[in-house]
Amino acid sequence: MNWDDLRGHRDQIEMLRRSIARGRQAHAYLFAGAPGIGKSRFARIFAQCLFCEKHDDTELLACGDCSPCRQMNAGSHPDYFAIGCPEGKNEIPVSVFYGDKERRGQEGLIHDLSLRPMAGSRRIAVLDDANRMNEEGANAMLKTLEEPPPNSMLILIADNLDALLPTIRSRCQLVRFSPLAANDVSDLLLKNEVASTPEEAAAAAAMSEGSLHIASQLLNPALRSLRLNLYAALATADLRPIEVAKAMTAGIDELGGDTNEQRRNAGWLIRFAQEFYRQTVLQLSGDDQPTGQGSEIIARFTKLLAARGSKGLELAMELFDRCVLAEDHISWNVAPAKTMDSLFDDLARTTRTRLRSAR
Ligand SMILES: [Zn+2]
Repeated sequence: MNWDDLRGHRDQIEMLRRSIARGRQAHAYLFAGAPGIGKSRFARIFAQCLFCEKHDDTELLACGDCSPCRQMNAGSHPDYFAIGCPEGKNEIPVSVFYGDKERRGQEGLIHDLSLRPMAGSRRIAVLDDANRMNEEGANAMLKTLEEPPPNSMLILIADNLDALLPTIRSRCQLVRFSPLAANDVSDLLLKNEVASTPEEAAAAAAMSEGSLHIASQLLNPALRSLRLNLYAALATADLRPIEVAKAMTAGIDELGGDTNEQRRNAGWLIRFAQEFYRQTVLQLSGDDQPTGQGSEIIARFTKLLAARGSKGLELAMELFDRCVLAEDHISWNVAPAKTMDSLFDDLARTTRTRLRSAR
């Protein structure tokens, strides 16, 4: 891999290149930014550039051809370690740092990093999900950061800086990453075959906040079918709040995941509802036809409201605002089920009364 295999983040490459050229290479870096924007990939390419034998560190380039580059591409470089939170776990087990109970201190990240480099002049370890260290792990990391082994470099990657000890943050050189541009996200969705059509990719990218991870989640078939069910429920003059809330809560349960994941999925459903009304408003204001998933259902609702003239547009805007409020509730940690109950209740009542009075 080299920088051409990475979307965006050109400023960060330049910044690192300049600081290394000035002799300011750090023992520890902290890469921070939203999930799914390429921080881990960045770290891997960065390490490869430092390992590459054809290019000086100050160039920060990887030839792709020398022995270290080949080993990096094959995932077999003996001085490179990348670890993170195992799938399905909420925090990084301490064994990742210290090794298992039986072999405590004889393996794990801290041990690996303390060994002399086998191939080149340094060892590089990447700790992904650094914001998911527990106290013991964080203390272990802190010790390593306070007394870094010679010829070692540590790269911490975090989605959420607030979850890291200030003492850890202050010992690393912070590199902040920005979300990806929407067109980069949609290109990657197509390239990785997560989306099958450009329209599908663009629609997911537009809602992804510049995160490939979020965009891929949005294209999850179960979430997509839940979205269509939601659209169908919203598109009638006779919205049945209890049924819809029940169906949506059951759908979230079926999607699985821990409480955080479920909250996130509830948040998505609310944003889908927002998107439904947003497209209705756009269309009623004479904008383009709705595009993307469920556009024909939105068109149906738009027709229903268009028959009410300006009252229809007002109604769509009011319903949209109510969804924005529900999104706030989710971010304020109101229980997802409760948030949805009251949201659908309000949406149903508003729709029914307004459509009746406009008749
Ligand atoms: Zn090379």
